[in-house]
This record gives sequence, structure tokens and C-alpha cells, in this order.
Amino acid sequence: MTTATSKPRKSRKSRKPRRSNDDIYKGLAETIIGAIQRVLDGTDDRLPWRQPWLGKGPGGAFDRNPHTGTTYRGINTLVLWLRRAAQGYSDNRWGTYKNWQDVGGQVRRGEKGTQVIYWNFIEKIVEDANGTPERDASGQIKTRRIGFLKTSTVFNRDQVDGLEGEKWSPVEPSSEEPTDPTADETSPLAEAVIGASKCPVRYQGAQAYYNLTADSITLPPRAAFEAAEGFYATALHEQIHSTLGRLDEVHTTENRRKNRRKGGKHHKGTQAYAFEELVAEFGSAFLCAATGVRPAADVDANHVAYLLYWIQVLKDDPKKLYEASILAEDASKYLLAAAGLDGHGEALKDDAKEVKSSAA
Ligand SMILES: [Zn+2]
Repeated sequence: MTTATSKPRKSRKSRKPRRSNDDIYKGLAETIIGAIQRVLDGTDDRLPWRQPWLGKGPGGAFDRNPHTGTTYRGINTLVLWLRRAAQGYSDNRWGTYKNWQDVGGQVRRGEKGTQVIYWNFIEKIVEDANGTPERDASGQIKTRRIGFLKTSTVFNRDQVDGLEGEKWSPVEPSSEEPTDPTADETSPLAEAVIGASKCPVRYQGAQAYYNLTADSITLPPRAAFEAAEGFYATALHEQIHSTLGRLDEVHTTENRRKNRRKGGKHHKGTQAYAFEELVAEFGSAFLCAATGVRPAADVDANHVAYLLYWIQVLKDDPKKLYEASILAEDASKYLLAAAGLDGHGEALKDDAKEVKSSAA
């Protein structure tokens, strides 16, 4: 039995049949699979989360709804980046049809919206085998919180007319000029994240990897990278791997998730390996966007194998996309928080100011 919803329910007649969580996961996975497939086909030259404009830095690379104050997270970030890349939108602001109408804007006729997801929760009464509500020691009826996904359709600022007079700042693309990897502190924020990490880093050899047993990261020397972005993107990718085993120490999201590295084993089995790589891929994309590092576009031979695995993982279990994006979000926030930064690379209060000012 349902006792409460976070929003008043419409009458049963007028309510559209709710899409199940599984349907929503499947739709999201299909969107991302399509983007990966286009890179494999050569239709697109970049994965949507590896756009040069994501090197914009704190705040600017991330999408938001200025009407509600929402800053998008995890899978919504990936979906909105994908849409911006596909449509060439220069703005990072989104709103529902009504949101834009409320501020005097008008979504242009024929414009297609983008679906973002959010959770809604209901309290369900716990019943025994006879259908009688169960009570706790104090006589209160026991309830259980059940979450279900909902979707909302949003439009980019670029799809809206009638707001010409407003002040707004589009997201400027970063320069395409490669930056010298040996230059000091090319990205102070990325330096801060790497410097604040608990995982020791050794610079040697030609391979970049995280060793779970030793709990250490090995990276080629900086000078081995053609551009600073390549060094940072690689370093941040390995930092995400190193963080997955540490996430149980903290609550980085509302719901605590245990056994993040399922089974506690690193890289066990192809699917588990591919899943963890997907987490590292999304996590480093979030970190690059937060720290102002322009992600590398190249998809090398190694990467093609991953792309194929990722498609397989997402086809076999579409929910894995959502799980990977949550883990990536948590891991990147964990690393950013250690450097005194929020999930978008903005300074956190108090002790974070020092990091920010030395980085400015
Ligand atoms: Zn990796």
C-alpha cells in the first residue's frame, strides 16, 4: 500500500503509465551505446564526454538548470554533454518548457527536448504474509522507502527565443593549442587533485596503471607526454581507479553504496574489467571538466577494444551505465573534496580557500 508520495498524485485516469526503472536504464544505455558506436563507425571523432569545451574549468563545463538551481550530476551530465556535442549548443543552461516560459522565453517550434532523470520516493507499508501491516517495538507501522526513476524533458538555452536581452555567458571552447607538459602547474586544479590524493605515484617506465596490491599509481614521466592535458587525463584516470577501494570511507552521495568494487577484486573477469574502465573513463571526464583539463580525443587501438566491451556490458545490463556514472561521480567528488573542491571544481568553504587562492 502506498501512503505518501513526494508530489501529489494525479488521478489514475489522467496518469500516463509510468516507465519502469528498467525501461529508463535501457533508454539511457541505448543513448550512450549509440554515441560509442558512432565513434567506432567513424561518424563521430570524439566520445561525447571528451569534448574540447569540457576544458572550460570550474562550473562552466557542467550543465545546470538556473531556474531550479539544479546542477546536473552523473548520467545526466553525460546525456547533456552528448546532446550539446551533437547539436553544437554553446550554452550550459537547461530548463523545462515551462521553466523558460516563466522567464519570458519561448522554446522554438519543433525543437526536440532532452530527457534527464531524477529519483522519486514513496513510503510503502511493510505487511506480513496475511497482508496485515507490521509494527515496530513502539507500535509504529513499519514502512519501507522505495525509489523510482522519473524523467523530465529539458531544453537548452540555445533552443529558446525571446530572452535576447538577458545577460549570459556561453561556454567558450578551449584553445586547441597543445600545452607544454613540462610547464609548471599548467592546470593548478589538476595539480591540487593529484597532490591531495592519498595514493602514492611513481614516475617510471612507459605504462600508466594502478596497482591494487601495492595501492600505488605508476605513470610515465611528464616529459613522455606530448601535451599537459594528456598527462593530466592519464593521471586523473588512474586516480579514479585508486579511489574505488576508498569510497566506503565516506558518504559522497545520499545513499551509501557498499562493495563498490564488487567482490572486492580488481579486474577480475572481462566484464568486471570493462565496467571498472567505464567508471575510470567517466570519472576522469568529470575530473577533467572540473579542473579545466581538455580531454584527449584520440581513440587508440587499445581503446577500441574497450569501446566494444563497453557496448557489450551496457547491452547485457543497461543498469550498469547508471551504476558506472554514480561511481564515477562519487570517485571524482572524493578526489576533488580532498583538494578542497566541490564536484564542479569550485572551492569548498573555509579550508578550501587556500587551495583555490594558490591555484588562481
Ligand atoms: Zn584504466
